[in-house]
Amino acid sequence: MADDDSEILAAIERWVDREVRPIARRFDHADEYPAALVEQMKELGLFGATISRDYGGLGLSASTYARLVTLISTAWMAPTGIFNSHLIMAACVERFGTDEQKKEFLPRFATGELRGGLGLTEPNAGTDLQAIRTRASRAQDSYRIDGTKTWITNGVYGTCFAVLVKTDPDAKPAHRGMSLFLCEKGPGFSVGRKLKKLGYKSIDSAELVFDNFEVSASRLIGGAEGKGFHQAVGGLALGRINVAARGLGIARAALTDSLRYAQQRTTFGKPIAQHQAIQLKIADMSTRVEAARLLIEQAAAKYDTGERCDLEAGMAKLFASEAAVENSLEALRIFGGYSYSTDFDVERYFRDAPLMCIGEGTNEMQRIIIARQMLEKYPL
Ligand SMILES: Cc1cc2nc3c(=O)[nH]c(=O)nc-3n(C[C@H](O)[C@H](O)[C@H](O)COP(=O)(O)OP(=O)(O)OC[C@H]3O[C@@H](n4cnc5c(N)ncnc54)[C@H](O)[C@@H]3O)c2cc1C
Repeated sequence: MADDDSEILAAIERWVDREVRPIARRFDHADEYPAALVEQMKELGLFGATISRDYGGLGLSASTYARLVTLISTAWMAPTGIFNSHLIMAACVERFGTDEQKKEFLPRFATGELRGGLGLTEPNAGTDLQAIRTRASRAQDSYRIDGTKTWITNGVYGTCFAVLVKTDPDAKPAHRGMSLFLCEKGPGFSVGRKLKKLGYKSIDSAELVFDNFEVSASRLIGGAEGKGFHQAVGGLALGRINVAARGLGIARAALTDSLRYAQQRTTFGKPIAQHQAIQLKIADMSTRVEAARLLIEQAAAKYDTGERCDLEAGMAKLFASEAAVENSLEALRIFGGYSYSTDFDVERYFRDAPLMCIGEGTNEMQRIIIARQMLEKYPL
């Protein structure tokens, strides 16, 4: 890790303690958008965290970025969604965009002037992305897009999205007829509705509607049709490392709160931390946190070398997200009746954690990816 990376992490830690932790419970319960945090995120450079310095970003490695995400998620996971899906969109442009697209969009993404995310999922297709129905039809120098995307993070407050569409719905296999467009909100591109959720409150998840939306052909990422599926999926390794880092943040917060509570709460004349039943939970929770951290570090280090890392990223995402779910449930048990109170944060960890098992490829799909790779690696 570079010296200036440790300075950035220290600045983030101070910001988390001063600005994020104190408001998390109140904003989560009110389901209120943390607009002031967004302005602070701009100043901290978070919207350009992984965008290279050439385009005005911080150019952080995946390893530093993962640590940064964990730091914030330990206080409140939800706000990391504001810059994470935005950065995956930016990564699609930086890795696959034309020079003109990079010059036009990346500096504005890096400052947070233009913010948004990734529009892949549709009402009928999430895991099976090749089944999407959103269609882009060529009309001279532009395309007309029609269709509906759903569950799109930053859908209400974001204005620019990388949107996966079919440019050739008859292509076989289907992914050869898929393309990714940078779409800025305007006539024909609107928010259908904001979605209500179990957790991950305060952050807008929305349905996006395209109705004869005209987008210039210059917004087709990479300038050639048929590459969108690979461009979209290509960003998922970083996305999975990030989801794992968010899971680790929740798992660690559940452990930290449990360690404190178990030494304060007494039953039968002693702190519950001295009952073996509680110690067993603490042992398992701590082990999960450390194992998740090591898996994430391994995946991020491999990502940073430029090597293929979907096996490592899949393992980190699978383990850390399940650790978040298990640790938040164990924290509920340790807190007893108080876990059910909205005066404590453990109920929020329990509502936020399951999303980590769904986002950036469900854990069922992670297991399939891991198993396939292991079988490829060790054939008979
Ligand atoms: C809060 C939130 C934010 C989100 N943000 C975004 C966003 O910003 N952009 C975006 O594009 N999407 C976003 N999503 C959508 C998310 O990526 C999808 O929900 C996810 O990919 C799963 O798709 P699905 O919900 O359609 O489930 P389905 O694909 O219908 O899957 C249902 C179940 O079947 C399992 N399954 C499916 N296929 C297989 C298979 N072949 N083998 C075994 N099991 C299988 C799945 O694992 C799951 O358990 C978000 C979702 C949520 C809840």
